[in-house]
Amino acid sequence: MKPDHPEHQPPGHADTARSRAPVIVYPPERLPEPDLPLYRRARAAAEKVGELRVPPRDARVFTVKAGQFFRIRSIEGPQVGDLNLWNAHDLAERFYSGKARALHGTHLSTGDRLWSGFPALRPMATITDDTLDWYGIDAFGASVHDVIGTRCDPYTNCLLAGDPYHYCCHSNLTRALADHLGVPLDEAEPHVHDVLNVFMCTGFTRDTGLYFMKASPVHPGDYLEFFAEIDLVGALSSCPGGDCSTGHSSDAATCYPLLVETFAPPPGALDGWQSPAPNGYDRSHGVAPVPGAR
Ligand SMILES: [Zn+2]
Repeated sequence: MKPDHPEHQPPGHADTARSRAPVIVYPPERLPEPDLPLYRRARAAAEKVGELRVPPRDARVFTVKAGQFFRIRSIEGPQVGDLNLWNAHDLAERFYSGKARALHGTHLSTGDRLWSGFPALRPMATITDDTLDWYGIDAFGASVHDVIGTRCDPYTNCLLAGDPYHYCCHSNLTRALADHLGVPLDEAEPHVHDVLNVFMCTGFTRDTGLYFMKASPVHPGDYLEFFAEIDLVGALSSCPGGDCSTGHSSDAATCYPLLVETFAPPPGALDGWQSPAPNGYDRSHGVAPVPGAR
């Protein structure tokens, strides 16, 4: 947030500087495009192979094989979910929300990818269907499914409210992952990372640049669906903020469960497709290899 009353006078070139046109940092047309028609044909032939209910103010872990689909569905009432994703064979490779934001924008929808961090930097999942894509960007600059928030957590709550609350998404994801891995909480917690805020309606205020939320437009039956590009472990928290129309990090909001459904296409439905390889950068970072060194 910038101060209302800056301490420095604008220089002579202030108006010129402010009037320069923005330049898109990562033009979307330069990204490799997902083969959505292939994914959709495979999805149309797929059968449901699993279902997991995520209770309110709690999280659950699920697994999805590369080439399968998973769907996060609103059931019973409007509810926001916080999603983490890991490579099922290496938890160090995990969803990088900041890079998804830089590549696709502040909110994700159909055709956007969930990228992993360095050094792999590859699509972990591709969004194949979004029943809330009609929402667009509203007059407040808000949209749905953001990668601009982080996840509600007990540390920020302690900082701002001073009292402990144990069912923030960060804690829910930590408990669920610890349970899934069979490890203590402090071993699981460092794996929890910034999320895709599924169904959450958010933006930044235009006058102050502050992060805001408003009631999610999600209704029971709405869903966000993904194609798993690699073998995945996922964790989903039903946020204690419910539809995030008022607050979070407390038991005040009405909360509902979420459903995760997985679907497997028949053999041959994805012929010609393969999991994306890790990023091609050689990782030498400007240091020339020593001849003969291994
Ligand atoms: Zn939350």
